[in-house]
Amino acid sequence: MTVKENETQTPESIKSKIRDIPDFPREGIVFKDITTVLRDTSAFRHSVDLLAKHFEKQKIDYIAGIEARGFIFGSALAYKLGVGFIPIRKPGKLPSKTESISYDLEYGKDSLEIHIDAIEPGKRVLIVDDLLATGGTADAAIKLVKKIGGVIVGLACVVELEFLKGREKLPEDCKITRLITF
Ligand code: AMP
Repeated sequence: MTVKENETQTPESIKSKIRDIPDFPREGIVFKDITTVLRDTSAFRHSVDLLAKHFEKQKIDYIAGIEARGFIFGSALAYKLGVGFIPIRKPGKLPSKTESISYDLEYGKDSLEIHIDAIEPGKRVLIVDDLLATGGTADAAIKLVKKIGGVIVGLACVVELEFLKGREKLPEDCKITRLITF
């Protein structure tokens, strides 16, 4: 086991572990591969810890993670903060009654779903994904949570691709917390 508990990580050192995959999933897209962060005990742990530090004094009732990579960071963050985790999933995956929303992606179109009874009205929800690109996914997730009565605390992600200006698509009052920018 390669547990390097004492190794200090900064956003810069975590950034250096993200791998660029050119032309994935389509020509012209540079995919930011975070699996190389996940497999590094210290980088993964610190990426979650650094995000958790930002939210430890805030009132959060739930973390809503966006499928699929938002589940990885979102569930770890929920565990760390001691709050519940709500999955926001691709269509047809959730077993009970859902609310859904369609949105535009950097590459294509998609929909997201949430269980309609996942959030009690007025509960405070932090949305989590691995990466903010054009903002369509995060914006849809925010709308979905609001639709079923949740109050948005903000959006937390590991990476923001600033040049895509995704934050401009999000509601003005949505606080964005990210560790790394490209
Ligand atoms: P967007 O809706 O454009 O903000 O896209 C965000 C979602 O797509 C996130 O869930 C990311 O995981 C994924 N994504 C979009 N662009 C990239 C990229 N260049 N590298 C890695 N993941 C991406």
